Amino acid sequence: MNKLVLVPCPYQGHINPMLQLGTFLHSKGFSITIVHTQFNSPSSSNHPEFTFIPIPDGLTAPIVSSGNIIAILQTINASCEASFEHCLTTQIMKQDPEKKIACIIYDEFMYFPAAAATHLNIRTFILRTTATANFLARSTVIELHSKGLIPFPESVSSDPVPQLHPIRFKDLPISPWDTIEKFLELIVSSHDVRRSSAILCNTTVCLDQSSLARVQQHCRVPIFCIGPLHKITTAASSSLLEEDASCIEWLDKQAPKSVIYVSLGSVACIGEKELAEMAWGLANSKHPFLWVIRPGSITGSDWIELLPREFREAIGERSFIVKWAPQREVLAHGAVGAFWTHCGWNSTLESISEGVPMICKPCFSDQKVHTRHVSQVWKLGLELGDEFERGEIERAVRKILENSDGEEIRVRAKDMKEKIDVSMSKGGSTYNFLNELVELIMGF
Ligand code: UDP
Repeated sequence: MNKLVLVPCPYQGHINPMLQLGTFLHSKGFSITIVHTQFNSPSSSNHPEFTFIPIPDGLTAPIVSSGNIIAILQTINASCEASFEHCLTTQIMKQDPEKKIACIIYDEFMYFPAAAATHLNIRTFILRTTATANFLARSTVIELHSKGLIPFPESVSSDPVPQLHPIRFKDLPISPWDTIEKFLELIVSSHDVRRSSAILCNTTVCLDQSSLARVQQHCRVPIFCIGPLHKITTAASSSLLEEDASCIEWLDKQAPKSVIYVSLGSVACIGEKELAEMAWGLANSKHPFLWVIRPGSITGSDWIELLPREFREAIGERSFIVKWAPQREVLAHGAVGAFWTHCGWNSTLESISEGVPMICKPCFSDQKVHTRHVSQVWKLGLELGDEFERGEIERAVRKILENSDGEEIRVRAKDMKEKIDVSMSKGGSTYNFLNELVELIMGF
């Protein structure tokens, strides 16, 4: 069978779906080569079935430590264009030369493979790892900026953005890391899909139908909704941090649907004041909670040093704190009744796929768009307000886990899980898209 070259973007929320897609395509008989940056390189030991090839990414220690994701991605795209072509011609094409490269699948933010693919006449697919609604929101940012309407005045921040219901101006996905111009350069490049055979989206029709029709008008190439990718195979973990499985033993001891699982993903950080409000809101809810606190995710501390001592005494055995959890397993555990999430797209999809209702507290960019869809369109969760205060947190936890006014959300979450299960079973939309994709690649 032919070779496929996959190029993930070097962040956890992008590596996971790309490697899950690779696992699925490998199960269909393709051999998979992952070309990746040295920065945040995925662990090859978890995926002995793939060939991993690192390429020089041009990143320096100061760029990486700046945490400026826009600058990091632009540096990678500028540096990797030539090294990728070199890697294709000197390594990948020469290994098993009887097998040809059927196509290259690259993350939408890793657009550097397009040039080499054009020179060498290899087909490409673009993988989008967030909700399709984001594409519309980003396109709107481009349009508003061209009309001089971005940055927008504070006075309109809570107004709805025309034709983007339920997004308000303050929900528009604008990067916190760099100037709007740099951000837009990246978005415009990632939106250029003309040279691709199709766009692959980690979503499913039953979630994103209304955005999908509009996105299809923008992009003249076919769109395949092949998500949720984490459910289409049992892919091994692709965590960059070590998963602490001891939390599963703790979950085993908790009552069904009693626990709130709390995680803000792999990039978001919070300050000391927010930490204290979160901690006391959770403690005062009297519900057990499993809290992922990533090292370095609390500004000014290495890990949990800034958690108030009285808080740690007050919660005792009722909480469990880990540095990184096996999240898919956690969300599928019967003891978990709700997920406090930053609404990164993988977390959102993982929660929806298990029928777990959400408390949403987005930190930046796409997360705000997802939050609005979870709370206002699909109505599968609650959005915390801007004040971020312990009383509101306590009320939200009680509502989502126990109160009768949260019952409708809990029922809808269960219904949506069933719809997603249907989309993945024989004859469902995801099932059909995946089959079409495999047939298309086999025909190249
Ligand atoms: N994740 C995990 N363990 C954790 C926290 C997160 O395995 O303790 C995984 C989670 O399952 C998801 C990914 O990390 O697949 C985070 O991606 P997401 O898009 O939700 O957010 P991001 O990290 O990109 O902000």
